[in-house]
Amino acid sequence: MSKNPARQIGVANDGSLPLPWLTTALAQAASLAKAHALLIHGPVGGGHLEFGLLLAQAALCEDPTAARSQQPCGRCASCHLVGTRVHPDLLLVLPDALRVQLGWVMDEDSKLNKADAKPSREIRVEQVRQAIAWAQQTSGRGRGKVMLIHPADALNGTAANALLKTLEEPPGALRLLLTSADPERLLPTVRSRCQRLRLELPATDVALDWLLTQGMVDPGPVLRAAGGSPLEALTWATEGLSPVLLAELPRRIAAGDVSSLAGRALPRVIDLLLKLAHDVQVLAAGGSPRFFAVESLPTGTDLSALRAWQRELMRAARHDEHPWNAGLLIESLVSQAAGLWRRQPQTGGRATSGASLNSAR
Ligand SMILES: [Zn+2]
Repeated sequence: MSKNPARQIGVANDGSLPLPWLTTALAQAASLAKAHALLIHGPVGGGHLEFGLLLAQAALCEDPTAARSQQPCGRCASCHLVGTRVHPDLLLVLPDALRVQLGWVMDEDSKLNKADAKPSREIRVEQVRQAIAWAQQTSGRGRGKVMLIHPADALNGTAANALLKTLEEPPGALRLLLTSADPERLLPTVRSRCQRLRLELPATDVALDWLLTQGMVDPGPVLRAAGGSPLEALTWATEGLSPVLLAELPRRIAAGDVSSLAGRALPRVIDLLLKLAHDVQVLAAGGSPRFFAVESLPTGTDLSALRAWQRELMRAARHDEHPWNAGLLIESLVSQAAGLWRRQPQTGGRATSGASLNSAR
């Protein structure tokens, strides 16, 4: 599996969608075709960027039938230009770090960033100012313009404020598309100026079928650990988080073995540890774990210590953009975890006494 699977942009020549589950949301979007500013929200990994690009392609499509139905034709010159990211009336406003991750570095971006050691994870105010200047120029192909801001949560405070006037009164026939997995993090003034469209994750069978077409073998455990998000599952697979590793991970952590987490990005590690903490508590309360297989979970947990660990993880999650030393922090979090299964367990629940590596079954 390639490190950066190239993603299809918009509807292809043969009419196929980039992600099969976007059909429903695309139909819903038809009723919002007149909205000048649309906020696409919903869980991470549902395809916000792909969906935004699809709506942009629909708005700019030059096929008269397609324009009426809000379904891009995939065949006209405009659809082709969107598909190759060179449409003069489509502007993508992304954090530089995401652009690099997608392999979309362009000359002007490189020039902008050559002084920076690390590409920014924020959308900078200069990007918004350039976008506003672009919006005020005449449409190149005469069908209006589309600005896609992904994700809008990446707008820093100054950048979000700079955008407000354009969001309130878009010049000409400009359509603004914003995405966010967590709209509550946006400025209320940004939220209130947008109509909303929620993008849901696909049903499990749809997600599994799609992951198989992407070359994943046995996608079930990875999809489950990724919370049902197929795009996240695909990313996890490219990071080497295999079904075998996920089956072993909970007990490795309980034993204080940090080897399978070392070198991974801190947000990913914290996400995995939080999911483990969740599942262990659910299991102790007699419920069914959500992210890991029940037989993979260690039992005999000190639950009050587990909740303290969980609070520590949440605190680390809030500061994971600026880790003082990610490697040391991961070691420390895993060593705290190991302590949970070494302590004397509490009475009650399904927490059992004894050794650290008791199986649930
Ligand atoms: Zn078209």
